[in-house]
Amino acid sequence: MARYRNEQASNHETVLAALRGSRKPMTAYDLLARLKTKGITAPTTVYRALDRLIDEGRVHRLESLNAFVVCDCEHSFTTAMFSICNDCGHAEEIADTKLHSDILAIARRLGFKLSHSVVEMHGRCRACAAGTEH
Ligand SMILES: [Zn+2]
Ligand SMILES: [Zn+2]
Repeated sequence: MARYRNEQASNHETVLAALRGSRKPMTAYDLLARLKTKGITAPTTVYRALDRLIDEGRVHRLESLNAFVVCDCEHSFTTAMFSICNDCGHAEEIADTKLHSDILAIARRLGFKLSHSVVEMHGRCRACAAGTEH
């Protein structure tokens, strides 16, 4: 895409690798702190890389946490669903094509042109609910 032409090609890969290495969703500032040693020091660099990764469908933004996670699915559709643990912060992506077709049907009924949707479930993950180490 033209608007990314002047960007160092590897910045978004560096951001992606940092996200991949984290068990929890990361905010832009988490990423900035992590990537300082890799030569990424400007918030705009991180935001631009995140925009690109989101556009490419490789990263999702969790609105409720204002944080980012790597897409775990092979999905090409526009609905992502996450379970987010309030205790340990773990976010797990759930691939659900039925949910996606339901959301599409609702959008169609409303005459709403859907670009993307992210469904966020908050609660406790199985391990935290069971009180086990993870
Ligand atoms: Zn995904
Ligand atoms: Zn948990």
